[in-house]
Amino acid sequence: MKKIVILGSTGSIGTSTLDIVSKFPGKFEVIGLTAGTNVDKLEEQVRTFSPAMVAMSDAVAAQQLRAQCQGLRTKVVSGAAGLVETATMPAADLVISAIVGGAGLLPTLAAIKAGKSIALANKEPMVMAGRLMQDEARKAHVRIFPVDSEHSALFQSMEGHRAVDIRRLILTASGGPLWNMTTEQMKDVTPEQALQHPNWKMGPKITIDSATLMNKGLEVVEARWLFDIPASQIEVLIHRESIIHSLVEYSDRSVIAQLGLPDMRTPIAYAMNYPERVPLDLPSLNLAEIGQLNFCEPDHERFPCLRLGYEALKTGGTMPAVLNAANEVAVQAFLNRKIGFLSIAATIRRTMDAHVSAEILTLEDALQADTWARGYATKIIEVLSTPSAVVH
Ligand code: NDP
Repeated sequence: MKKIVILGSTGSIGTSTLDIVSKFPGKFEVIGLTAGTNVDKLEEQVRTFSPAMVAMSDAVAAQQLRAQCQGLRTKVVSGAAGLVETATMPAADLVISAIVGGAGLLPTLAAIKAGKSIALANKEPMVMAGRLMQDEARKAHVRIFPVDSEHSALFQSMEGHRAVDIRRLILTASGGPLWNMTTEQMKDVTPEQALQHPNWKMGPKITIDSATLMNKGLEVVEARWLFDIPASQIEVLIHRESIIHSLVEYSDRSVIAQLGLPDMRTPIAYAMNYPERVPLDLPSLNLAEIGQLNFCEPDHERFPCLRLGYEALKTGGTMPAVLNAANEVAVQAFLNRKIGFLSIAATIRRTMDAHVSAEILTLEDALQADTWARGYATKIIEVLSTPSAVVH
């Protein structure tokens, strides 16, 4: 039985992962779970899966969980140290990294250093410190299996092929809920509108990232480090239906793609069971019924965040960590109605412009850049959210 730890078990990816665990009794044992603040959901999971340890990043929430789980065998720990303790549990075979945002960097990196196989959904750590994570993975002989549907598709399309024969990676993007809007119309977009993703049910942060196309910017950086492919060989293609999850072109111009109906349980199950494919009770893809698939180029003018992703990657060093941190702060401010939709990109742009990139040699270098960018972006948002401020 594979012993697993799920970082971010109360979220969208976390609950889908537990759904797979429930469907295959005898295959996985859940030994550790983590969450941020959602006490009731984690308590429910503790009662169902009886893990040896759970961690909550919020100490007050952990205290409450302890009270609610009195008499149960599960040890409740808290804070960054608690997340790391759970991520590195000696018995763990596989850690599913599904915390949202940069908060996942510390425990995911700790799990890598502890020699755990990783199923990686949490893309932000790879954006912040991709080279460092891959260096540590190499040192510890750890494999990182992609969960992100696009990267899982690339990974599957590369199976049995030589890396040297790869010519291009083509990441597909649905374009999100605002794809057909003009910039003028985007000015007044509400969080409710931006949260209406046409194809995927996901947590709020990644759903807003899909609306700005920052999700694809982050994914370009993630692909660069996951597959060790330069940015010049990574392209983005808008594909509204989210049926082709990504494509790999080889030197002989043959293109291999992975297709399927949009459901995260497929890439999660693949990462958890690799190289085995387990039978999932999901509807089959019926291309005749779908009839046609549509494609077009991304529009960098209306969706500047994608270009910011490429730019951060080109600059390198701490810049991707700064891009990520500024984005996290701006998305939260948008969800809190402090700034408008267009101010997300404006905040990231200004934060990147103010940053002088430096090399990332240690985890502290990445965390320092992250802290700086959060502080700078917060100041910009204060200016942008005053009624007299004009956003360009
Ligand atoms: P959710 O918002 O649904 O879940 C996030 C999880 O992280 C929750 O368990 C949450 O706990 C926990 N969390 C939040 N903040 C902290 C913190 N500061 N410290 C510790 N834990 C924290 O996110 P998703 O599941 O949608 O996404 C998770 C990751 O997977 C993201 O990086 C996303 O980009 C990536 N991903 C998601 C996809 C999807 O379909 N959802 C698809 C591809 C990638 P709590 O509930 O207590 O707040």
